[in-house]
Amino acid sequence: MRLIFLGPPGVGKGTQAVKLSQKYGIPHISTGDALREAVAKETEIGLKAKSYMDRGALVPDEVVIGIIRERLDRDDCKDGFILDGFPRTVKQAEALDEILKAMGVELDAVLNVEAPDDVIIERLSGRRTCRSCGRVYHIIYMPPKKEGVCDVCGGELYQRDDDKPEAIARRLQVYKEQTAPLIEYYEGKGKLHRIDGSQDVDGVFRQITGLLEGEKADYEKEEG
Ligand code: ADP
Ligand code: AMP
Repeated sequence: MRLIFLGPPGVGKGTQAVKLSQKYGIPHISTGDALREAVAKETEIGLKAKSYMDRGALVPDEVVIGIIRERLDRDDCKDGFILDGFPRTVKQAEALDEILKAMGVELDAVLNVEAPDDVIIERLSGRRTCRSCGRVYHIIYMPPKKEGVCDVCGGELYQRDDDKPEAIARRLQVYKEQTAPLIEYYEGKGKLHRIDGSQDVDGVFRQITGLLEGEKADYEKEEG
């Protein structure tokens, strides 16, 4: 299965992508995670990306397209993948179309997760991220067992700089200007599905799996 998660920052894309990746055994590919790792390791890409990320701006298209091109070329993507946080501009979507064409594969679905701004702001403000493994928590909705400590790896939980108020406002504006046009882009291709992201984590997951099981049944019928 080849899926894209579309939607504003903080709507819950990563949370759902991790669960789907476990259910279907396909990799979860997050450009945000890849970039944060590059920043932490101070690689050339990381050094270039940091200033954009800190102020809530998008990293230049060619940088993220390069990351995705390399990642989709790996063996573990041959049976499917879940893209989270990519594409974020029409230029990135067009580059992805070309990459998939060269691979001889097609997208199965684009999941557009939606929620009102007040819900998104509350989720982003309460998000805490593990410095070691990147797992995401929420101080109210998904608290760790022990405050400040990752349940999975024992790493330290921190608040991302771009989850602080000034950067949140900027990111929501960037989403509306540069990423929201992708809704129309994928609607035009007949791939878009709307998901109500304002429900709790299990409620959102049920919507997505219900939809994908239907898609899978259709696909299997067509294939005979
Ligand atoms: P995104 O990947 O879209 O930026 P995340 O998956 O990181 O969003 O979620 C943002 C924050 O909201 C995290 O703190 C996460 O724990 C929390 N969260 C995610 N989904 C839900 C939900 N359905 N209900 C409440 N909180 C949620
Ligand atoms: P995320 O973890 O998806 O919220 O991404 C965090 C930050 O990484 C964004 O605010 C951007 O600065 C950068 N980023 C992640 N994905 C992309 C992308 N596809 N295009 C440009 N910048 C990105």
